[in-house]
Amino acid sequence: MTSLVSPADLTALSGQLEQLPLPQALLHLTESFPGGTVLSTSFGQEDQVLTDMIMRFDLPVRVFTLDTGRLFEETYKVFQRTVERYGRKIEVYFPDALAVETLLRERGPFSFYESLDNRKECCRIRKVEPLRRALAGAQCWMTGLRTEQSETRNQLPALTWDESFGLYKYNPLHHWSLSEVEDYLQHHRVPYNSLHDRGFVSIGCQPCTRAIRPGEDSRAGRWWWEHNTNKECGLHDR
Ligand code: SF4
Repeated sequence: MTSLVSPADLTALSGQLEQLPLPQALLHLTESFPGGTVLSTSFGQEDQVLTDMIMRFDLPVRVFTLDTGRLFEETYKVFQRTVERYGRKIEVYFPDALAVETLLRERGPFSFYESLDNRKECCRIRKVEPLRRALAGAQCWMTGLRTEQSETRNQLPALTWDESFGLYKYNPLHHWSLSEVEDYLQHHRVPYNSLHDRGFVSIGCQPCTRAIRPGEDSRAGRWWWEHNTNKECGLHDR
Protein backbone atom coordinates (compact mmCIF):
# COMPACT_ATOMS: atom_id res chain seq x y z
CA MET A 1 0.00 0.00 0.00
CA THR A 2 1.49 3.37 -1.00
CA SER A 3 0.85 6.64 0.77
CA LEU A 4 -0.40 9.75 -1.05
CA VAL A 5 1.78 11.89 1.18
CA SER A 6 5.45 11.68 2.12
CA PRO A 7 7.11 12.88 5.33
CA ALA A 8 8.04 16.07 3.43
CA ASP A 9 4.29 16.87 3.08
CA LEU A 10 3.72 16.60 6.80
CA THR A 11 3.51 20.35 7.40
CA ALA A 12 1.12 20.91 4.50
CA LEU A 13 -1.25 18.12 5.50
CA SER A 14 -1.08 19.22 9.11
CA GLY A 15 -2.12 22.74 8.08
CA GLN A 16 -5.03 21.40 6.01
CA LEU A 17 -6.28 19.26 8.88
CA GLU A 18 -6.05 22.14 11.34
CA GLN A 19 -8.29 24.28 9.08
CA LEU A 20 -11.09 21.72 9.03
CA PRO A 21 -13.64 21.06 11.75
CA LEU A 22 -13.91 17.50 13.03
CA PRO A 23 -15.11 15.12 11.61
CA GLN A 24 -14.35 16.69 8.18
CA ALA A 25 -10.67 16.54 9.13
CA LEU A 26 -11.02 12.82 9.81
CA LEU A 27 -12.63 12.35 6.39
CA HIS A 28 -9.81 14.29 4.73
CA LEU A 29 -7.32 12.09 6.55
CA THR A 30 -8.95 8.87 5.31
CA GLU A 31 -8.84 10.25 1.76
CA SER A 32 -5.14 11.01 2.16
CA PHE A 33 -4.44 7.46 3.39
CA PRO A 34 -7.04 5.31 1.60
CA GLY A 35 -7.58 2.12 3.55
CA GLY A 36 -4.65 2.91 5.82
CA THR A 37 -6.09 4.88 8.74
CA VAL A 38 -6.55 3.18 12.12
CA LEU A 39 -7.73 4.23 15.57
CA SER A 40 -6.40 2.58 18.71
CA THR A 41 -8.91 2.73 21.54
CA SER A 42 -8.63 1.92 25.21
CA PHE A 43 -12.26 3.10 25.59
CA GLY A 44 -11.14 6.22 27.45
CA GLN A 45 -13.14 9.42 27.06
CA GLU A 46 -11.05 10.83 24.20
CA ASP A 47 -11.09 7.53 22.32
CA GLN A 48 -14.86 7.41 22.70
CA VAL A 49 -15.18 10.87 21.09
CA LEU A 50 -13.23 9.66 18.05
CA THR A 51 -15.01 6.30 17.94
CA ASP A 52 -18.34 8.12 17.95
CA MET A 53 -17.31 10.33 15.01
CA ILE A 54 -15.89 7.42 13.03
CA MET A 55 -18.88 5.17 13.59
CA ARG A 56 -21.67 7.73 13.27
CA PHE A 57 -20.22 9.06 10.02
CA ASP A 58 -19.22 5.57 8.88
CA LEU A 59 -15.65 6.63 8.17
CA PRO A 60 -13.32 3.99 6.70
CA VAL A 61 -11.12 3.74 9.79
CA ARG A 62 -10.15 0.41 11.31
CA VAL A 63 -10.77 0.59 15.09
CA PHE A 64 -8.82 -1.73 17.35
CA THR A 65 -8.09 -2.22 21.05
CA LEU A 66 -5.31 -3.93 22.97
CA ASP A 67 -6.64 -6.39 25.54
CA THR A 68 -3.71 -6.66 27.94
CA GLY A 69 -5.42 -9.33 30.05
CA ARG A 70 -5.30 -6.98 33.08
CA LEU A 71 -8.11 -4.56 32.23
CA PHE A 72 -10.92 -3.41 34.54
CA GLU A 73 -14.30 -5.11 34.23
CA GLU A 74 -15.74 -1.61 33.65
CA THR A 75 -13.57 -1.29 30.54
CA TYR A 76 -15.02 -4.49 29.08
CA LYS A 77 -18.50 -3.15 29.83
CA VAL A 78 -17.95 0.05 27.86
CA PHE A 79 -16.41 -2.05 25.07
CA GLN A 80 -19.64 -4.10 24.97
CA ARG A 81 -21.89 -1.03 25.09
CA THR A 82 -19.91 0.63 22.28
CA VAL A 83 -20.31 -2.38 19.98
CA GLU A 84 -24.02 -2.53 20.79
CA ARG A 85 -24.52 1.21 20.25
CA TYR A 86 -22.83 1.46 16.84
CA GLY A 87 -23.18 -2.08 15.49
CA ARG A 88 -19.61 -2.11 14.21
CA LYS A 89 -16.92 -4.59 15.20
CA ILE A 90 -13.81 -3.52 17.09
CA GLU A 91 -10.67 -5.54 16.47
CA VAL A 92 -8.89 -7.00 19.50
CA TYR A 93 -5.18 -7.72 19.86
CA PHE A 94 -4.05 -9.94 22.70
CA PRO A 95 -0.48 -10.45 23.99
CA ASP A 96 1.51 -13.48 22.94
CA ALA A 97 0.39 -16.29 25.31
CA LEU A 98 3.85 -17.85 25.65
CA ALA A 99 5.43 -14.47 26.52
CA VAL A 100 2.81 -13.88 29.23
CA GLU A 101 3.26 -17.39 30.62
CA THR A 102 7.02 -16.85 30.81
CA LEU A 103 6.65 -13.40 32.37
CA LEU A 104 4.37 -14.70 35.13
CA ARG A 105 6.45 -17.81 35.79
CA GLU A 106 9.79 -15.93 35.92
CA ARG A 107 8.78 -12.63 37.56
CA GLY A 108 5.38 -13.22 39.18
CA PRO A 109 2.02 -11.51 38.67
CA PHE A 110 2.96 -8.12 40.17
CA SER A 111 6.54 -7.66 38.93
CA PHE A 112 5.70 -4.20 37.56
CA TYR A 113 5.68 -2.75 41.08
CA GLU A 114 9.27 -3.88 41.70
CA SER A 115 11.22 -1.88 39.12
CA LEU A 116 10.86 0.35 36.09
CA ASP A 117 12.51 -2.34 33.96
CA ASN A 118 9.95 -4.91 35.07
CA ARG A 119 7.11 -2.50 34.41
CA LYS A 120 8.37 -1.68 30.93
CA GLU A 121 8.85 -5.37 30.15
CA CYS A 122 5.23 -6.10 31.13
CA CYS A 123 4.05 -3.15 28.98
CA ARG A 124 6.24 -4.34 26.11
CA ILE A 125 4.71 -7.82 26.18
CA ARG A 126 1.11 -6.82 26.85
CA LYS A 127 0.92 -3.57 24.86
CA VAL A 128 3.82 -2.69 22.57
CA GLU A 129 4.21 -6.03 20.78
CA PRO A 130 0.45 -6.40 20.16
CA LEU A 131 0.36 -2.76 19.00
CA ARG A 132 3.10 -3.48 16.48
CA ARG A 133 0.94 -6.27 15.04
CA ALA A 134 -2.16 -4.05 15.06
CA LEU A 135 -0.37 -1.26 13.19
CA ALA A 136 1.18 -3.53 10.55
CA GLY A 137 0.19 -2.20 7.12
CA ALA A 138 -1.36 1.00 8.49
CA GLN A 139 -0.24 4.39 7.21
CA CYS A 140 -1.78 6.70 9.77
CA TRP A 141 -2.49 5.98 13.41
CA MET A 142 -5.14 8.11 15.07
CA THR A 143 -5.09 8.58 18.84
CA GLY A 144 -7.01 10.49 21.50
CA LEU A 145 -3.89 12.06 23.08
CA ARG A 146 -4.22 15.60 24.44
CA THR A 147 -1.50 18.08 25.36
CA GLU A 148 -2.89 18.83 28.83
CA GLN A 149 -2.93 15.17 29.89
CA SER A 150 0.60 15.30 31.33
CA GLU A 151 3.98 17.01 31.18
CA THR A 152 5.21 14.26 28.82
CA ARG A 153 2.56 15.28 26.29
CA ASN A 154 2.68 19.08 26.52
CA GLN A 155 4.52 19.47 23.18
CA LEU A 156 2.19 17.12 21.34
CA PRO A 157 1.54 18.17 17.70
CA ALA A 158 -1.66 17.37 15.77
CA LEU A 159 0.16 15.37 13.10
CA THR A 160 3.58 13.85 13.38
CA TRP A 161 5.76 11.08 11.99
CA ASP A 162 6.16 8.19 14.43
CA GLU A 163 9.65 6.84 13.97
CA SER A 164 9.08 3.83 16.27
CA PHE A 165 6.22 2.42 14.23
CA GLY A 166 7.03 3.98 10.84
CA LEU A 167 3.74 5.78 10.18
CA TYR A 168 1.95 9.08 10.61
CA LYS A 169 0.33 9.72 13.93
CA TYR A 170 -2.66 12.01 14.16
CA ASN A 171 -3.88 13.44 17.46
CA PRO A 172 -7.02 15.37 16.46
CA LEU A 173 -7.98 16.20 20.05
CA HIS A 174 -4.53 17.45 20.98
CA HIS A 175 -5.81 20.94 21.91
CA TRP A 176 -9.13 19.84 23.48
CA SER A 177 -9.67 20.40 27.20
CA LEU A 178 -11.08 17.67 29.42
CA SER A 179 -14.33 19.60 29.81
CA GLU A 180 -14.71 19.80 25.99
CA VAL A 181 -14.30 16.01 25.85
CA GLU A 182 -16.86 15.50 28.63
CA ASP A 183 -19.31 17.94 27.01
CA TYR A 184 -19.05 16.09 23.69
CA LEU A 185 -19.76 12.72 25.32
CA GLN A 186 -22.74 14.10 27.18
CA HIS A 187 -24.16 15.98 24.17
CA HIS A 188 -23.94 12.93 21.88
CA ARG A 189 -24.83 10.42 24.61
CA VAL A 190 -21.70 8.41 23.95
CA PRO A 191 -21.06 5.36 26.19
CA TYR A 192 -18.20 5.98 28.62
CA ASN A 193 -16.31 4.06 31.27
CA SER A 194 -18.18 4.29 34.60
CA LEU A 195 -14.82 4.57 36.39
CA HIS A 196 -14.68 8.19 35.18
CA ASP A 197 -17.52 8.92 37.61
CA ARG A 198 -15.30 7.63 40.46
CA GLY A 199 -12.28 9.90 39.91
CA PHE A 200 -10.46 7.82 37.30
CA VAL A 201 -9.37 9.96 34.34
CA SER A 202 -6.72 8.09 32.34
CA ILE A 203 -7.62 4.39 32.55
CA GLY A 204 -5.28 1.54 31.68
CA CYS A 205 -4.63 -1.80 33.35
CA GLN A 206 -6.35 -2.41 36.68
CA PRO A 207 -3.21 -2.95 38.83
CA CYS A 208 -1.52 0.15 37.38
CA THR A 209 -4.37 2.68 37.52
CA ARG A 210 -5.93 4.56 40.42
CA ALA A 211 -8.30 7.50 40.79
CA ILE A 212 -6.67 10.94 40.96
CA ARG A 213 -7.05 13.64 43.60
CA PRO A 214 -8.21 17.22 42.85
CA GLY A 215 -5.34 19.22 41.28
CA GLU A 216 -3.36 16.20 40.09
CA ASP A 217 -2.66 15.91 36.37
CA SER A 218 -4.76 13.40 34.50
CA ARG A 219 -1.93 10.87 34.15
CA ALA A 220 -1.13 10.93 37.88
CA GLY A 221 -3.26 7.84 38.40
CA ARG A 222 -1.12 5.75 36.03
CA TRP A 223 1.96 4.00 37.54
CA TRP A 224 1.60 6.38 40.50
CA TRP A 225 4.66 4.88 42.21
CA GLU A 226 6.94 6.17 39.40
CA HIS A 227 8.27 9.67 38.63
CA ASN A 228 6.19 11.72 36.15
CA THR A 229 8.77 11.70 33.35
CA ASN A 230 8.57 7.91 33.04
CA LYS A 231 4.83 7.72 32.62
CA GLU A 232 4.55 6.26 29.15
CA CYS A 233 4.30 2.60 28.29
CA GLY A 234 6.11 2.51 24.93
CA LEU A 235 2.98 3.21 22.88
CA HIS A 236 3.37 6.98 22.85
CA ASP A 237 6.99 7.68 23.63
CA ARG A 238 7.32 10.36 20.94
FE1 SF4 B 1 1.58 -4.57 32.71
FE2 SF4 B 1 0.76 -2.50 34.18
FE3 SF4 B 1 1.82 -2.11 31.73
FE4 SF4 B 1 -0.60 -3.21 32.03
S1 SF4 B 1 0.03 -1.09 32.56
S2 SF4 B 1 0.96 -3.87 30.65
S3 SF4 B 1 -0.31 -4.48 33.89
S4 SF4 B 1 2.84 -2.92 33.58
